Amino acid sequence: MTDSTEWRYDRLSWPALRAALARDPQPVVAIPFGAVEDHGLHLPLSTDNDILEAVLAECGRRAAGDLLVTPVIPFGLDEHHMDFPGTITVDMETCLAYVSQAAISVARHGFRHILIVNGHGSNQAICDLAARKCVLATGLICAATTINAAVDPALVRDVLDANRQGGPGSVGHACEYETAMMLHAHPDRVQMELAQRDIGQVKLKYFNWDYPEPSAYSWQDWWSRFSQSGVCGDAAAATPEFGKLMFETTVTRFVELVREFATLPIRERVDHH
Ligand SMILES: [Zn+2]
Repeated sequence: MTDSTEWRYDRLSWPALRAALARDPQPVVAIPFGAVEDHGLHLPLSTDNDILEAVLAECGRRAAGDLLVTPVIPFGLDEHHMDFPGTITVDMETCLAYVSQAAISVARHGFRHILIVNGHGSNQAICDLAARKCVLATGLICAATTINAAVDPALVRDVLDANRQGGPGSVGHACEYETAMMLHAHPDRVQMELAQRDIGQVKLKYFNWDYPEPSAYSWQDWWSRFSQSGVCGDAAAATPEFGKLMFETTVTRFVELVREFATLPIRERVDHH
């Protein structure tokens, strides 16, 4: 493998990383931010990190030098899941400081386009703020996104909605989508015989837990108040075929997104005082 096709940021030597900085177009750097938390009776605690790693590895390979991926930051904001054994939580201030400092470190070496790639719903606001801290601190371009459609389906909403089988409420957490992604990427880690339909979250006029549908306000309750198994959605409806479709769609579109993102210009600020 040559240095220009190595996609793992931290597997480059420092001279190879310096060469990557000098390439035109310069690679986008992705910083994945995940979680270790309950994912029902049928999936491992590593599910969010597993999905991040599997998707970004394939994106890295297909982007052919246009994308570098750092190791996953494995622990996120997860206090609301602590009623389930095994969850690891880091408080929001620490998460924000940690993720933003990782992004700022990458920027300080001269990478001009950085994506914080979220894999866990409750990290979302932190990723947005961390990206903004990086922009304000460095003047470079840093944005937040996700490749997990149960976190935010913006990248694949049309395909998700047209192909899921579980109906309204099926996509939330350890759900039809996440289970299908795991059936495709890591079938050995799924105990499908234990997969449940558990849709305990409310659906109201202005609040909707089902992710392809938007809500008019954000609200996160303690997880054990609305989910018996840890699932929020219809894990039992998941199939490997749906997982393959979502995985392939996500990889194709994310590589496209990366190449578009790399074209965002860094313009001069104007001081109007
Ligand atoms: Zn998850």
